[in-house]
Formats: sequence, C-alpha cells, structure tokens
Amino acid sequence: MYTRRSPISDVCMLAPPTSEDVPTASRSLAQAAEGRAGDGVLQGDDIETLRKRERLLALAIAGSGTGIWDRNVVTGEIQYSSGWKAMLGYADWEVSNRIEDSYQRLHPDDLDYVKATMQAHFEGRSDSYEVEHRIRCRDGSYKWICSRGRVVDRDASGRALRMVGTSTDITSQRAMSESLLEAVNLITNLTNEVPGLVFQYRSVPGGRSFFPYASAGITEIYELTPAQVAADASRIDALIHPADLAAYRASFDASAVQLSPWHLEYRVQLPMQGLRWRQGDARPQRLPDGSILWHGFITDVTERKRIEAELQELATIDSLTGLPNRRHFMAQIETRLASLQSGRGAATALMMCDLDHFKSINDRWGHGVGDRVLRHFGSILRAHLRPGDMAGRLGGEEFGILLDGADMRGAICVARRIQQSIAEYPLIEHEQRIELTVSIGIALMTAADVNAEAPLSRSDLALYRAKKSGRNRIES
Ligand code: GH3
Ligand code: MG
Ligand code: MG
Repeated sequence: MYTRRSPISDVCMLAPPTSEDVPTASRSLAQAAEGRAGDGVLQGDDIETLRKRERLLALAIAGSGTGIWDRNVVTGEIQYSSGWKAMLGYADWEVSNRIEDSYQRLHPDDLDYVKATMQAHFEGRSDSYEVEHRIRCRDGSYKWICSRGRVVDRDASGRALRMVGTSTDITSQRAMSESLLEAVNLITNLTNEVPGLVFQYRSVPGGRSFFPYASAGITEIYELTPAQVAADASRIDALIHPADLAAYRASFDASAVQLSPWHLEYRVQLPMQGLRWRQGDARPQRLPDGSILWHGFITDVTERKRIEAELQELATIDSLTGLPNRRHFMAQIETRLASLQSGRGAATALMMCDLDHFKSINDRWGHGVGDRVLRHFGSILRAHLRPGDMAGRLGGEEFGILLDGADMRGAICVARRIQQSIAEYPLIEHEQRIELTVSIGIALMTAADVNAEAPLSRSDLALYRAKKSGRNRIES
C-alpha cells in the first residue's frame, strides 16, 4: 500500500497546473520552465533564475513547518511533499498516495467537517478550502493542522479535477490559545460565580463614565445587563436612591481626586426588587489619558442592614413600650447639653414622671395588666410630644421627657395635660377603669450642667418633692 515513488521536492508540488498535469500533478516549476524554454519562451539565464527561486522557496517552506499536497480529485490520488510527511514523523515511503488512506489518518471527530468543507469547495460554494483539524502522526499522537487549498483545475462543466494545498502544524498555537481560553474561562466563571457584581468602571475627563467590564452579577445588583452599561453608566445613576445619589457621586469624586479606595453603602430602587442596600468597594488607578479606572465589586447588604437596624433598635428601644430606653435617653440629654453649651441649642426642659402606687396596680390586677398600663402611659406621653421632643422609659414605672425649646411655664403646661389625659383616658380592663395618677418633677437644662446626670438629678429631686407632697403633683 505504500508508495515507493522517488521523493518529490516541496516546490515541485507548486508547479503551475496545466491540463496535462492532472494525472501526475508533480512537475516542478523548473521542469515547467524548461518545457516552455523548449518552446523558445525562456532562455538559459531565466532557467537558472527560476531554479534559484525554486531552491529558496523550498527552504522557506521547509522552515515554516508547512507541507504541501496535490490531489487528483478524479483518481483519488494525492501526493505529499517530503516536508508534509516529515511533519507527521513519516519517512517518505511510509505514506500511500490514496485519499482513502489520508482520511484514515484524520481524527474521527474532524472527518465529517473536513469532508463537508472540501465538498463545498469542490462544488464552488467557497473560494478556497481552509480547515483546522487533527491528523494522526506515525507515533499515534495527533497534531493540529491548518490545511488550506484550492481547486486549480476544473472541467468544462465546472467539476473539480485537481486541488493543491498546504498543511501547517498549528499544535503549539492551538495549545497556547486553548490555555489562554481556559484562563479567560476560569476568570469569567470566577467573576460570574462571585455573589455580587465584579466590575471595571472608568470615568473619562469631561464626565463620561462606563463599565468596560461587568460580571453576570449585574443582573442581580442593578437588574441590568453588562451591555447596557458598557458605553454609558448613566442607567445606574437612575437606580440610585435619590437620597443617596449625591453621596454616591461625591464618593467616586473623592476617590478619583485622592486615588483612595472607594467604599460606600447606599440604597438602590430597582424595578423588580424594590428598595435594596448595596455595598461597593473598589480601587482606583489613573490612566495616561487622565481617566480613572476602578476595579472592584458591589454586593447586596440588604439583609445585613436589616439586622443592623434590628440590633440598633434592640440597643436603643424599650421593648415593652417602644420608647427609647434609658441609655438612649441619656445619650440624647448629652447631645442636647452639648448643643446648649455650644450656644446653638434652644432651652430644653427635662421632665421626670413616676406612676403613683404602681405596685398596688400590679398587686390588684396582676403583672400583665401592669404591663398594659405602662404601654398605655407610654402612648399618652407620645401623644403629647411635638417634633424635637423625646420621651423615654428610664426604668420600671419611671419615664423621662425632653421638651425642646420649652421654658418652665411651657413644661408645666405639658405636665398638666399629661395628668389630665391619664385621668380622662384610663386603661379599661374587663370593662373596669384602671385609675392611674402620675407625679412629675421638672428641671430646666442649662449650659452650666456638667453632664446629663446634673439636670436629671434636679428633676428627680423635684419628683421626690411631688411624691412627698401627696403624689399626682407637679413640682419644679
Ligand atoms: P410610688 O407611688 O411611691 O412610686 O409607689 P410605687 O408602687 O409606684 O413604687 P415602687 O417603687 O414601690 O414600686 C414600683 C413597682 O413597679 C414595683 C415593680 O414590681 C413594678 N414594676 C417595675 N417594672 C415593671 C414592669 O415592667 N412591669 C410591671 N407590671 N411592673 C413593673
Ligand atoms: Mg418608681
Ligand atoms: Mg411609682
């Protein structure tokens, strides 16, 4: 089955085709030239020049890792250059000249594709034939080959008669592009699997900004696609909560000017998810054209924000009445004191209320009713607050109220209204009124107070006097 023809040179395969070439397809350029010299077309010098060119071309082809083939489409004979055979590790005489054998060497997965592409070219559906496929080498391994060719002779009805082409070993390029593709796939998969949005954000001098890269997470973070922000980021600005938009823009501006890391927690208002919290972190770098490029990521922190708010409430709110607890109330006194001392704050009255004989309510009605009385009193206090005022539960059946901008007369008026309210609207339990009175002590806060305890102890003293003088009283 093996051909024992004398090896053909790489260049002889490139002989300009003529119709007589079809059966053997192996005349060299120089032979062709000599043939024509016989016709008196070329002279001796011209032949020598052609031979030199032939040698140079042979060297160039051998050096490029390319082999040449020449196929007789009619007989199924195919000739390969020595370089072609050597490329696959075959000796010259080890490769048959039958096209059926060449298909045996093709990787089975590539066979149909190669044949279909070849057929398309035979039928004139493509200008040339070009495929990448695998061929089995002598040692059984496969090499990736790029084959290019063209039908160089057709009969009168257009049927392909002869085709010549080249085969180039692209195994190493293939391996390189495959490992490059693997690396790109790895990074893309990583960024797409990271919860949240991994991004590259660029701000160009003059105000234009866009996302050269956005991972698949953008659909969750902004309900947008990477393509929608690839040229213009303004769609995102439209999703930032109006109350956070100024801070959002300022944070990027500051990061750009100082080249400092960008960090922000902000709200977005999304068409499907509604109000959500986002946290963004990125590092900026300045590019030669003056634009700033950030690499970073944005995550959903809505759940964390909800828990934080819950914890904040737990830490500051009394769970029974829903009023600020003692710690929070004391912190508020400190804040008011600081603004009084700085000369910016308005006069503030501090009122202490202690329910009278509360123990006996518990004793008579039970602790559960006692709790409801505490909640009822809390809601009465709330009803008397104006904007800027604040009520808190200081402990047990003791409550404090900060009256913003109130003098002593105003504070006493509020205290009276509170006493009237609990008299007029007692808690009703099992159709029975739970009668309740409250003793109130009032003090005015002054800039001279050294701390929150000072006005608190003055109002406490006044409260003590109210209790001493018979309860259900107001003292200042
Ligand atoms: P006074 O008029 O002198 O203030 O008398 P009082 O009975 O109101 O004062 P006292 O300090 O003797 O009793 C307060 C009671 O409040 C005792 C305590 O069991 C009750 N108490 C404190 N916290 C709660 C609570 O959260 N729920 C209920 N139901 N009772 C509470
Ligand atoms: Mg008490
Ligand atoms: Mg009491």
